[in-house]
Amino acid sequence: MTRIPDLHTHSTASDGTLTPRELVARAARQGVEILALTDHDTLAGLEDAAEAARFHGLTLVSGAEVSVTWGGRTVHIVGLNVDPSAVELRTGLDGLLNYRQQRAAEIGRRLERAGWPGALEGAKAFAASELVGRTHFARFLVSRGAAKDVRSVFKHFLVKGKPGHVTGEWVTLEQAVGWIRAAGGEAVIAHPARYGFTRTKMKRFIEAFVACGGRGIEVVSGSHSRDDYFTFARWAREYGLLASAGSDYHGPESPWVELGRLPELPEGCRPIWDLPGFTANDHQRLSKPESLHQVEAQA
Ligand code: AMP
Ligand code: MN
Ligand code: MN
Ligand code: MN
Repeated sequence: MTRIPDLHTHSTASDGTLTPRELVARAARQGVEILALTDHDTLAGLEDAAEAARFHGLTLVSGAEVSVTWGGRTVHIVGLNVDPSAVELRTGLDGLLNYRQQRAAEIGRRLERAGWPGALEGAKAFAASELVGRTHFARFLVSRGAAKDVRSVFKHFLVKGKPGHVTGEWVTLEQAVGWIRAAGGEAVIAHPARYGFTRTKMKRFIEAFVACGGRGIEVVSGSHSRDDYFTFARWAREYGLLASAGSDYHGPESPWVELGRLPELPEGCRPIWDLPGFTANDHQRLSKPESLHQVEAQA
């Protein structure tokens, strides 16, 4: 029952460049059978994506990638198969959106002082909604010739020690995982290799995540190397975590990442998309979290 998954993608609802409908259409063309839309800190693209998914005949998993501060740094937790109408999750994400607006204003002020006036307005012009992220600032600065591409804007302007850097003050791991679970979803550690944690810190992070009720980890990710696949397959096995796979697609401007072009999970991984009920595509099932976990416990 192997289906082609891609469980980590972005649309214009956050910092992707395809609309939710365009993203789903492209995923269908690429042969993706089970697609999760996981925009940063928002569920705003899910309705359009679900409609397009019905049209194209692929399974859409409702998701979000939640920004978290843990151990003094930013980490990302992907929520999969969440009920988009869940109040606790929606309220939590509204708070993050509010924080993003304050942070964007602060990034704008800092860039202004560094000689880039109008950066906030410029970044907003690159955003399709009120959600403004660093990528929107990066696209604005590229358009002004400040650097050759988005990557180099990050390197020269937006990371720690650079003029437009603002230390993120996101939500706690408990909050993010709690909201996702309360919405009937599964919490997954996004692109763990990106954090540059030592083994000791990774162990503490995974243990804290499991203690909060986290269930999955991205073993295969667009930002992982082959070695990373095996490293995180081992971590998954050690902690009984389900394995996820996602490209972290942001749009065709990054041609080195494509939807659904992911290698198979290493031997011994339990794919999260094989969880019973995971792709039932029905978000009205209010009793789902319990029943889902019961089914699994019996399996
Ligand atoms: P934010 O959540 O607004 O701080 O932005 C985080 C997003 O910025 C990530 O999801 C990536 O899309 C993008 N990003 C982070 N670091 C880099 C980088 N070094 N080069 C290009 N994009 C990056
Ligand atoms: Mn992003
Ligand atoms: Mn991320
Ligand atoms: Mn992402």
